[in-house]
Amino acid sequence: ARKYIVKQPFVGLPKREDFEIVEHQLPPIKNGEILVKVEWVSVDPYMRAYNGRFPTPYDQFGFNVGTVQDSKDPRYPVGRKVVTHKGWCDYTIANASSETDRVYKLPDLKGLNESLAVGAVGMPGATAYFGLLEICKPKAGETVVVTGAAGAVGTVVGQIAKIKGCTVIGFAGTDEKCQWLQSLGFDKAFNYKTVDASKVLKEAAPSGIDCYFDNVGGELSSIIISQMNVRGRVAVCGSISAYNDTSLPEATILQTYLVFKQLKIEGFIVDRWLGQWNVAFADIIGWIKSGKMKTQEHVTEGFDNIYDAFVGMLQGENTGKAVVKI
Ligand code: NDP
Repeated sequence: ARKYIVKQPFVGLPKREDFEIVEHQLPPIKNGEILVKVEWVSVDPYMRAYNGRFPTPYDQFGFNVGTVQDSKDPRYPVGRKVVTHKGWCDYTIANASSETDRVYKLPDLKGLNESLAVGAVGMPGATAYFGLLEICKPKAGETVVVTGAAGAVGTVVGQIAKIKGCTVIGFAGTDEKCQWLQSLGFDKAFNYKTVDASKVLKEAAPSGIDCYFDNVGGELSSIIISQMNVRGRVAVCGSISAYNDTSLPEATILQTYLVFKQLKIEGFIVDRWLGQWNVAFADIIGWIKSGKMKTQEHVTEGFDNIYDAFVGMLQGENTGKAVVKI
């Protein structure tokens, strides 16, 4: 079997030398274990953000989709499709009772692509669903802004907000992504690299912003928050604009806005709703099947190309969810 290990902490953008592909012999499975052939591997921003928290070397973690090849767990017989958190590997042994292996049965995707189980019908979809509905709590007629809008989480956030009757404004890193977002039904989408965000927001949201789903952090987020309405809600999901920074930028004072606008700003980790992910998946599958939600994947082929897919995603090469077909 083959797997990627992280050899040393990332400094700045992860380098190829930070990883090593290791060939190893998998032992026979023990009671409670399953042998999984991996078909889809996910590359996600938290693989960058969480670096530094674990001693190196470690096996690169992450969600993947595969098929059970051998089983000593009657709940997961041979042939069963599963999701695991065993990361960047081609074959792996997992234990469904292990909290870190995070094995669960592939949801009934009703004929949709199985790779969606690491995207809109997986962790990123649950992130969008609960972060928006439980933290922003948007009401019909309100204005919702989402950054990282053309990515795995952002596209789902914006489309759920539209389904809930909101006006939706997205920010993404290329004009093509922005055009695509408008084709999905976003009311407006702006290229944050080329526009004056403060100016375009005043035009696109003349009566202010009620909800902000923050995927990127940094200056763009400060500008958006400064234009929020009284009693607005901010779901802080991520801060990808700073994940590769080697030093933190100088603090910007946002407290004035937080006080005068009485904003509620809350960070979250999607695992807070782990027991309810299936609720999100059922709704999202329903929306996709009924045509209310569209999904797109940026597929990279081949086990040897996972590093490229990962770094490409961090640099914005993906429109929709970045996945690797093994
Ligand atoms: P995406 O599919 O959105 O991929 C990452 C995107 O980030 C890139 O495509 C790129 O798009 C954008 N990006 C890269 N650099 C910058 C920058 N400097 N400023 C602004 N945007 C940038 O990833 P996900 O949807 O999986 O994740 C989105 C966010 O959600 C991340 O911050 C992630 O950490 C967070 N997250 C949080 C979870 C939680 O539980 N809290 C769970 C899952 C994700 P572009 O071309 O637009 O720049």
